[in-house]
Amino acid sequence: MSENIFLKIINKEIPADIIFEDEYTIAFNDISPQAPVHILVIPKKEIKKLSESEEIDKELLGHLMITAKKIASDLKLNDYRLVVNNGAEAGQTVFHLHIHILAGRPFGWPPG
Ligand code: 5GP
Repeated sequence: MSENIFLKIINKEIPADIIFEDEYTIAFNDISPQAPVHILVIPKKEIKKLSESEEIDKELLGHLMITAKKIASDLKLNDYRLVVNNGAEAGQTVFHLHIHILAGRPFGWPPG
């Protein structure tokens, strides 16, 4: 069994409400949504956080952003927020890189 919860989702060891999947990425609904739409887009490659990504991950990181954009477009979301929490103080709780797609309500700035 894998250690991190998102690897378990990638490996289908635990269920998730999967929105999109391809060779490099998987996207699924957040278990504790903070907005009417709250989707996580993650790489299948194990990268604990953005600051641990490397030059070799350049295409993969671009692919994650394009995937997030496509999901938003497929869901006909006009306005949405993408969030990447990097490290515990920034709010990261699951140490497998992920992009949050949040939509369906207004968002304040700066974030809390
Ligand atoms: P972070 O705080 O690391 O930026 O975001 C982690 C997100 O993963 C949180 O929004 C949390 O609700 C979500 N999450 C944690 N465990 C699970 C799980 O088992 N399944 C799903 N679908 N989401 C999870």
